[in-house]
Amino acid sequence: PKPSIERMKEYVAGRNIEEVARSYGIDERDVIKLASNENCLGPSPLAVSAIKKAASSIHLYPSVDGVELREALAAHYDVPVGNIVTGPGMDGVMETLLRVFLDKGDEIVIPLPTFSYYENVAGFSSAVPVFSTRRPDYGLDIEDILSKVSERTKFIFITSPNNPTGNVTPVEDIERIASAVDCLVFVDEAYIDFADRTALGLVRKYDNVIVGRTMSKAWGLAGLRIGFAFVPEWVLGQYMKAATPHSISRVSIAAAIGALGDKEYYEKSVETVRKGRKYLAGNIPFRTLPSEANFILMDVSPLKSKYVADECMKRGIILRDCTSFRGMGDTFVRVTVGTPAQNKRLVEALKDIRGGA
Ligand code: PMP
Repeated sequence: PKPSIERMKEYVAGRNIEEVARSYGIDERDVIKLASNENCLGPSPLAVSAIKKAASSIHLYPSVDGVELREALAAHYDVPVGNIVTGPGMDGVMETLLRVFLDKGDEIVIPLPTFSYYENVAGFSSAVPVFSTRRPDYGLDIEDILSKVSERTKFIFITSPNNPTGNVTPVEDIERIASAVDCLVFVDEAYIDFADRTALGLVRKYDNVIVGRTMSKAWGLAGLRIGFAFVPEWVLGQYMKAATPHSISRVSIAAAIGALGDKEYYEKSVETVRKGRKYLAGNIPFRTLPSEANFILMDVSPLKSKYVADECMKRGIILRDCTSFRGMGDTFVRVTVGTPAQNKRLVEALKDIRGGA
């Protein structure tokens, strides 16, 4: 392998239900996964029926650039289709974008702690991650970020709401950064549906702002891998050259268009998260951080995150121990907001673990 891959740590994903059921001898139906910020409602019925309809044409390639989905997104968000790109998950969209812009030795600025995959994608191009540290309240340290920008910087990554801390970055802060630099600012809005402030307006105003989105969370399509981004028009043609052809399947395109038409499901998803978040913040027996995402970060001190996550796993609840997040320490556990029944089971388990430790 090339040195940048050899040095890289593998991406750590949440453990899956089947594996946990097997290792702990629990019935699969009794295991709940609150580790990967998926949608607790199951899929949208309109997405499922669209998949059934699409099944008869899976012997044909999908469109090369997901144009049907791009058009549906353009109508839904009232944004021109020339400002929208799609890909296999936001992860896939980022891979294409970074392939377009990063050469060996280029830099990307990443405020920590945050989602770890940016760093891996930079490594694919032998580019260098340069880290900034968020303030104690996990807000951005704008001066520090700007001081890390060099003539080799191609991207600044801003995750809002941030994963795993859950806080939103005010649009004014993003604008301050975007207006002060020549490089691109990638605003990762994977969880924005659960918050109420988007930086989407900045894409129109600045030619260096990209806003990334996913259908894995509020739209409930994590298993189909569908991401998109709002980009300045000049990026579109370059993106298309570097994108893997036909990278979103027919089934995924059909399901995504179906889900976009399911207003009731989307609203119920957002509402379930807002209510569940409030319940969890009020009942979890550890300090929790204010969150505008579909997850909550808890500081389990004086216990260790691994201990709490393992004890939950024994009780059939999969959580995310945040030790693997760079700069996060060993006392933070992230929990996805679930259904009311799942949330209640989680709270009871945590009380039991806290009491027994
Ligand atoms: N950005 C953030 C902040 C995320 O947490 C995730 C999901 N793990 C992604 C991007 C990737 O989302 P997708 O499922 O669309 O690849």
